[in-house]
Amino acid sequence: MQDCIFCRIVAGQLPAARILETPKILAFLDIAPVHYGHTLVIPKAHHQNLLDLPDGLWEEIGHVCRRVAQAIQLNLKAQGFNIGMNNFAAAGQEVFHAHVHVIPRYSGDGLKLFPQGSYKPGDLEKTAAQLRQAL
Ligand code: 5GP
Ligand code: ZN
Repeated sequence: MQDCIFCRIVAGQLPAARILETPKILAFLDIAPVHYGHTLVIPKAHHQNLLDLPDGLWEEIGHVCRRVAQAIQLNLKAQGFNIGMNNFAAAGQEVFHAHVHVIPRYSGDGLKLFPQGSYKPGDLEKTAAQLRQAL
């Protein structure tokens, strides 16, 4: 897709700090990192989000994420990492070419990803039933 920045990175029309490439996947540094080494892992083909990805491709992305995470721990001395994926605008997706964030983490870095809440009485089982019905 010509107007997609990640497709343009794949095509070499925009610069990126590429760190790993397979026939179907590209991993490159996020331009605005949470920590140095924050990496985006993307399919080279344009798919908008997780739900659009063919199964096999999702597995390959996962495999590359794991390799990147190992490199982050080994050479950037990260003590942990987060894997994150924003899907659809409501979830914060800004670039509509599927991508997985691999984010280095350090003890005491103070990041808290999601504020959490609690269920009102009865709602936990009700919510589980709603989901089971669709699965
Ligand atoms: P999203 O919110 O869609 O999950 O995240 C998109 C990510 O892409 C952001 O973390 C942003 O910093 C990164 N990004 C946006 N434009 C570019 C770019 O041109 N080059 C690189 N390397 N990263 C980008
Ligand atoms: Zn694209």
